Amino acid sequence: MQRIVVVGAGMAGGRAAAEVRARGFAGEVILLGAEPHRPYDRPPLSKAVLSGRIDDTTLPFDLDGVEVRLGRRATGLRPGTVETDAGPLDYDGLVLATGADPVTLPGDGPQRVLRSIDDARDLRGALRPGVRLVIVGAGWIGAEVATAAAAIGAEVTVVEAAASPLFAALGAQVGRCTIAWYARAGVTLRLATAVERVTPDGLVLAGGEELIADEVVVGVGVRPGTAWLAGSGLALDRGVVVDEHLAARWTHGADGADGDRPPVVAVGDCAAWWSRRYGRRLRVEHWDCAQQSPAVAVSTLLGGEAVYDPVPYFWSEQFGRMVQFAGLPSAEAAPVFRGDPGVVVPPDGGRPSGWSAGWFAPDGRLEALVTVGRPMDMVAGRRLMAADGIPDRERFADISVSMKEL
Ligand code: FAD
Repeated sequence: MQRIVVVGAGMAGGRAAAEVRARGFAGEVILLGAEPHRPYDRPPLSKAVLSGRIDDTTLPFDLDGVEVRLGRRATGLRPGTVETDAGPLDYDGLVLATGADPVTLPGDGPQRVLRSIDDARDLRGALRPGVRLVIVGAGWIGAEVATAAAAIGAEVTVVEAAASPLFAALGAQVGRCTIAWYARAGVTLRLATAVERVTPDGLVLAGGEELIADEVVVGVGVRPGTAWLAGSGLALDRGVVVDEHLAARWTHGADGADGDRPPVVAVGDCAAWWSRRYGRRLRVEHWDCAQQSPAVAVSTLLGGEAVYDPVPYFWSEQFGRMVQFAGLPSAEAAPVFRGDPGVVVPPDGGRPSGWSAGWFAPDGRLEALVTVGRPMDMVAGRRLMAADGIPDRERFADISVSMKEL
């Protein structure tokens, strides 16, 4: 193998390129990125960058010996060659790390998304005291933008189609526990409210009501950045289809096999991998995945047998609270609470002790856990889930019992 090409210079692509070098690969490594920036961290964009505490989130990857080509986009793929806007680029091994692109809404009015550092800097410039900001979507990003904007003094309204914030990730029962956070921060939250279109004056809601806004931010989810791979013959299904080793496959070819085609792997937000743990395909748009998956994918590219099989993990900082989430709850499981989500100031006037909620599988395993201001619950809970532990539910619900002792 003489040349490895990495497409996408975000967290996952940058880490993959650094990993190839760290493993002593002696050939050429080319990292291709559509943005004009070296790999940078995205989680601070909706937190410290938006609130003006930092401006630069460049990642400290060692890319010595990696040829970084920025402002270059891959436009197509055939076995052995990436088509780019600067001409074809042959490879002997390929890492796909093209992340995800925000979904936008219909309408001819201006709408902002928050995906890149340029998006974050532009939005920060628009946030002033009194500016009327409407955020569409009370998911992770919507809540974080509302937090930063309200602190700056913007007049913030969040419009959400579901009956609770964080509905898709946490379900209604836990999502409802966050409603009061919005009111306390002075943010207007409109639930069960669908948006029809964005107009030059703001939004038109389903039903015809107009919502006037100076700025509209849309945070309603992302799509894997795989449009450029359509028609390439690489297997795609809501992401790049990869196996448990993160190896992609072609849908056509001699005897359906990949034969002597150079290997392709996918990492981070664009990869839909086969999970041994959950017995199904997962695509997870979380930092932890972009951070951990490249080591496995690079091992696979270089002939190793490593398996990627994490318990998904995510964190968010909203309205002064650290919210962490791990696992995958099954649709029918009801959460078991640990602590009281309604307590803002405890009776002794001290610091609130936070709360957690867990979802249990029918066989008693802890399937998923959300913690609010309880990082030690999360540390213990992640260990339990990774080990398929079966904690006692009553003791779980007793916040005076340490999670470590379950
Ligand atoms: P990306 O970071 O999206 O990088 C992909 C790169 O590929 C981009 O630079 C893109 O321009 C480039 N690219 C795309 N197509 C092409 C092409 N055809 N040719 C060349 N280059 C291309 N996760 C958490 O766990 N916790 C958080 O608190 C959190 N907060 C977040 C806040 C924000 C505002 C955002 C946007 C994300 C947040 N995330 C968070 C998610 C996390 O940042 C992502 O999961 C992670 O960045 C994914 O990394 P990636 O490298 O797979 O994709």
